[in-house]
Amino acid sequence: MECIKCKNEMTKAKLFTFGGIEIESETKSIFETPERSAVEVYVCSKCGYIELKAKDHKKF
Ligand SMILES: [Zn+2]
Repeated sequence: MECIKCKNEMTKAKLFTFGGIEIESETKSIFETPERSAVEVYVCSKCGYIELKAKDHKKF
């Protein structure tokens, strides 16, 4: 993945909370099952820019 700030190649990294982070879709009712995805983190070793990317983005 290329850094949008300086075009350097970004390195994949891990964001530490407890066991990584996930995103969950918003639901309109309590009967609807929300979609979930792990979050991938990329860091630019040149400028420090961090980018988050949903691993299972196609479910949303
Ligand atoms: Zn950069």
